[in-house]
Amino acid sequence: MAIAPSHLQIDSSHRRDLAPIATPDRLLLGPGPSNAHPTVLEALSRTPIGHLDPLYVELMGEVQELLRYAWQTDNRLTLPMSGTGSAAMEATLANTVEPGDRVLVAVKGYFGLRLVDMAGRYQADVRVIEKPWGEAFSLDELEAALIEHRPAILAMVHAETSTGICQPMEGVGDLCRKHNCLLLLDTVTSLGGVPLHLDAWKVDLAYSCSQKGLSCPPGLGPFTMGPRAEQKLSARTTKVPNWYLDVSLLNQYWGSDRVYHHTAPVNMNFGMREALRLLAEEGLEQAWARHRRNAEALWSGLEGLGLVMHAPLELRLPTLTTVRIPEGVDGKAFSQHLLNNHGIEVGGGLGVLAGKIWRIGLMGYNSTPENVDRLLNLFETELPRFKQTAAVAA
Ligand code: PLP
Repeated sequence: MAIAPSHLQIDSSHRRDLAPIATPDRLLLGPGPSNAHPTVLEALSRTPIGHLDPLYVELMGEVQELLRYAWQTDNRLTLPMSGTGSAAMEATLANTVEPGDRVLVAVKGYFGLRLVDMAGRYQADVRVIEKPWGEAFSLDELEAALIEHRPAILAMVHAETSTGICQPMEGVGDLCRKHNCLLLLDTVTSLGGVPLHLDAWKVDLAYSCSQKGLSCPPGLGPFTMGPRAEQKLSARTTKVPNWYLDVSLLNQYWGSDRVYHHTAPVNMNFGMREALRLLAEEGLEQAWARHRRNAEALWSGLEGLGLVMHAPLELRLPTLTTVRIPEGVDGKAFSQHLLNNHGIEVGGGLGVLAGKIWRIGLMGYNSTPENVDRLLNLFETELPRFKQTAAVAA
């Protein structure tokens, strides 16, 4: 039967006649996303099941348990937020900050600044201490700031993706307990690739992402909250100002009640389940050692070519290497060449490090000796051409 003509005409100005999607096979050796594991990709393409299906509910429990393993925590409130790392980041602040609460952010790179911005949006009384982009905080510096500012929360980034610096965490949690504040930690570039011991370090709130050390595509933001942070949440006198990220509502879905909150991205959680299962199968210590081994091979190879690492060895992240772009080289032109002619992505610098460094990620599935060799070979054979071009042009 013909559809009755409508008095409304179809406007076709936005209609496009497109070919089916075709994406290139890239090797993602930048700051993220990293390539997803083939088993994860297979899980993502499975037929979705209902988000209240008993089989899915069982899978939710598996994801939560494996996240606890990956983070080394017993926190009851551990779940993947539907959203990227920034959603989970925002959830840590949205749930614990009440207007006027003092939040001290220890900034040593781009993502510390994001914490400052977000905490301000939740009307925190934000205080900031800063280190140059390539350094970490000492316990003495942190304690002096805790004494001066007396915050309710100390927020910091463990693995600063903008600088390649790993913040040493031993003793920080003890300081926070001593000065009666919560410790909030960004583990976006450390989960799965760098030693993390949330409970032993006395971390009260943490978040991460799916697209780096866990070898999943972007789309989920692991979140965890310990008992001290839960207490702050339950003592709130105001509603959590963000409905979607309200953990007390979310916990009715992720906790024992399994009450509908929002339609979970079920396929992303299939992928997350497989990614975490593979991490557990490998073993945390083995995964951390693999990341370390491959990063060390990359560092010594790059140094052997005369390149200079931005981060000092003792603070260097195995998941993300920052390399100084040599004088006279157009760093952007070289990374574009790697992408366009070799299908390899490496990142450039952010903020004050823009144009000064390359950022090379060896995360999750991508942390392999083969990837290290392939990249080193290109640095050895192709980079000299870019130096010559720069010298001739000068
Ligand atoms: N924190 C750090 C340290 C990051 O590297 C990133 C992203 O790369 C984020 C937070 C934000 O995560 P997303 O981009 O998944 O929202």
